[in-house]
Amino acid sequence: MIINGTHIAQEIEQNLKKAISSLHGRSPCCAFILVGNHPPSIAYVRMKKKKCQEVGILSKDIELSETVSEQELLKEIEVLNEDEAVDGILVQLPLPLHIRSQKILEAIDPNKDVDGFHPMNMGKLLLGDNSGFFSCTPYGITILLQRAGIDVKGKHVVIIGRSNIVGKPLAALLMQKREGSNASVTVLHSASENLEEICKSADILIAAMGSPKFVKKEMVKEGAVVIDVGINKPEGKLVGDVDFENVAPKCSAITPVPGGVGPMTIATLLSNTLLSYQRRK
Ligand code: NAP
Repeated sequence: MIINGTHIAQEIEQNLKKAISSLHGRSPCCAFILVGNHPPSIAYVRMKKKKCQEVGILSKDIELSETVSEQELLKEIEVLNEDEAVDGILVQLPLPLHIRSQKILEAIDPNKDVDGFHPMNMGKLLLGDNSGFFSCTPYGITILLQRAGIDVKGKHVVIIGRSNIVGKPLAALLMQKREGSNASVTVLHSASENLEEICKSADILIAAMGSPKFVKKEMVKEGAVVIDVGINKPEGKLVGDVDFENVAPKCSAITPVPGGVGPMTIATLLSNTLLSYQRRK
């Protein structure tokens, strides 16, 4: 089975659209802070804003030059934190090198942190406290698995990658003691030994490393589920971290790139924005 992330995300967006159209008073609003002219960042923000518009979420644009100071950026965040009409604040990463990203992320009001990167929200996730926000890509992956009818309970999930935005929060989500989680999780990284062997023991293998077609068929158990988070453009063509053509025949289910995890990330951002709106009312 090829898991159609585009279709699942569309279903979620239709439900959000319906829920938002029945709201009374102001509309939910997400603020997007874009620093500089990094083409992929511009494209990501454009796509997120388009999806916001489609479901009825207002977006607020803060576009700052590449040379903006950390102080000025912090001021912008402070204004958005205080703005009653703003439910979500998203700072598009990466930021220019002279700005400390962690300091910026920590300045966002955790109650408006719809990307789920604030230490308060990361900490809550680790503690199994669901009152914060889960970061979009990991949360999107867990919803994708649920919607595809794949129960992770008791399964060996192997994640390649331990980044703060994908690997770590995904491991924390999947190992939670609750419905839709309860997996046995192994996280691999660049210092891991026996990587291939460990991957081969996975019931569910999640590649989130940013290395084109890294996962080969020899690394995958017959009948495993493979989730490809990677977004790479080695020769201008979009490819994931999995050698899809050769791996797919071995899998019981696999996500394609594009059309797998990517659309779920945006759908989860929209869901988090509505959640913030509902909590703040
Ligand atoms: P990242 O911050 O660069 O982290 C990559 C992780 O993979 C690191 O933990 C690294 O290990 C590990 N890794 C790299 N090469 C490895 C190797 N050969 N063997 C074992 N581990 C290896 O990347 P990221 O931000 O997590 O993103 C990962 C990929 O997902 C990228 O392609 C990115 O574009 C994509 N992504 C997609 C979405 C989406 O919505 N679809 C969202 C976010 C990211 P070390 O920690 O030891 O360096």
